Amino acid sequence: IKNIGVLTSGGDAPGMNAAIRAVVRASLYHNLKVTGILRGYEGLIQGDFFPMDGKSVANIIQRGGTILKTYRCDAFRTKEGRAQAYKNLKESEIDALVVIGGDGTFRGADIFSQEFDFPIVGLPGTIDNDLMGTDFAIGYDTAINNVVNAVDKIRDTAESHDRLFIVEVMGRDSGLIALRSGIGVGAEAILIPEAKVGLPQLFHRIETGRKDKASKIIIVAEGDEGGGAYVVGEALKEKFPKYDIRISVLGHIQRGGKPTCMDRVLASRLGVAAVEGLLEGKTDVMVGQINKEIVFTPFSQTTKHIDAEKITPAWLRLVEILSM
Ligand code: ADP
Repeated sequence: IKNIGVLTSGGDAPGMNAAIRAVVRASLYHNLKVTGILRGYEGLIQGDFFPMDGKSVANIIQRGGTILKTYRCDAFRTKEGRAQAYKNLKESEIDALVVIGGDGTFRGADIFSQEFDFPIVGLPGTIDNDLMGTDFAIGYDTAINNVVNAVDKIRDTAESHDRLFIVEVMGRDSGLIALRSGIGVGAEAILIPEAKVGLPQLFHRIETGRKDKASKIIIVAEGDEGGGAYVVGEALKEKFPKYDIRISVLGHIQRGGKPTCMDRVLASRLGVAAVEGLLEGKTDVMVGQINKEIVFTPFSQTTKHIDAEKITPAWLRLVEILSM
């Protein structure tokens, strides 16, 4: 391997820049060329490449988003699109790729690396943390801290006005952002798809909760079967007309801003491991961190369902004990 291409794809996540920086610096350390690819698989197909050096990643470790830009690229789902991508890589003499993204990115990388026998290592970059093969994905820690900071502020109003707030957080079909941030803000209830709490159980929890408590915060994962904050809000208003209920959908503030130190360090470590993994001949795998160790997991295994692994009964019990 002489020239590594690096791209970010799918939803942006804070810490992606720290990962790019680590990939570039590790490549240079090993005397490899490194090529930036803009806008994920779209740039791969368009041949949007540029050489990177140590300076091109200076002063980015602390920045959210991704300097390489990201994109959702439908053409990469077609054989023709991927063939064009391969042609561009060959022409530019790029002989390995590091892709930073989530499960969709890895599905595409899995297909591409097998189709063309092309070396690819992936880095988990998604605030949702919904990947197998790593305890934490890059961006998750920042996202849950963003949620905690926002909800702490909402709590002030909730407390002062004796209000019940329903706060909807991101995570697509995963409840991991809701779970951790909900515990972190001391939520009175957490609705996540994996726990299947349902409205009757939520009503019961509110009815049996402490009556003297002024404010209540209910965290709802966007993917919860309850139907999101507005649907839950309507149901609660009907059931508890006396409550002053407000709804807040946090939205994109969750994925922006400076990455936390945890995310920067994770991204830095995994970025170096990805380059060194490629040099050792690893391909068609994602590099993650499990119990502090670096672990390589085949792409095909990273997109399996995460419930049992990351949302164990012990976590749900914790929520049950604390939310009263
Ligand atoms: P994420 O990586 O954050 O999950 P997406 O699901 O949008 O984000 O996936 C990123 C990109 O990966 C898609 O825009 C597409 O280009 C590519 N991709 C996803 N699934 C496939 C697939 N089955 N085949 C080929 N490419 C795919």
